[in-house]
Amino acid sequence: MAKTILVVEDEQDIANIICFNLKRNGFETLEAYDGPTGLRLALEAAPDLILLDVMLPGMDGFEICRRVRAQSQVPIIMLTAREEESDKIMGLELGADDYVTKPFSNRELIARIQANMRRVSATTPVAAHPSAGTGLEISEEDSAVYKDGKPIDLSVREFDILSYLAAEPGRVVSREELMEKVWGFEYYGDLRAVDVAIRRLREKIEDEPAQPKFIITKRGMGYYFAKN
Ligand code: CA
Repeated sequence: MAKTILVVEDEQDIANIICFNLKRNGFETLEAYDGPTGLRLALEAAPDLILLDVMLPGMDGFEICRRVRAQSQVPIIMLTAREEESDKIMGLELGADDYVTKPFSNRELIARIQANMRRVSATTPVAAHPSAGTGLEISEEDSAVYKDGKPIDLSVREFDILSYLAAEPGRVVSREELMEKVWGFEYYGDLRAVDVAIRRLREKIEDEPAQPKFIITKRGMGYYFAKN
């Protein structure tokens, strides 16, 4: 199925060129020419990736990014002006996955889009290869987790933490990284929120939460998903 990309860009000429090129490369497109419409489509139309301009009427790209991140992990690529170095950092701090600087070539844009789509689908093999023998199965497709074949009721955030850690078993992930990837900017600063969420997650998926088999603490460094 074709992936849908939401293009939020108030300069219609630029938006049209981008969409034309995206379609030529096999993507479906949605267009928004102002901030509020962009935010609405981002949240309601469930695009597979968002290209987000910074300066927009109604609501700027940073605010859209922040609000989308509070609800969704859809890949966001900011479209920034070359001279605005601070814009790039700001976008990433707000949870954008990447940025491209204007003016950009079609080839560059497509390459960035594909790289960011890959990053998202890189978590999918977890679904194809559940933690065999451990009884835990993570299905990215329907955002569900099964323990010994029975569905486990996780919050979106708990699911995101689990699937983020399980995507790379054995890799220690810092609390800061989890905060950034799963929470986004809004809660930045209170790392105890990560520990609380991990504790709740363990209570749901571990046989003995005090002696976890799946999500292991690496003292002073963070957490990792156990290798089989
Ligand atoms: Ca603009």
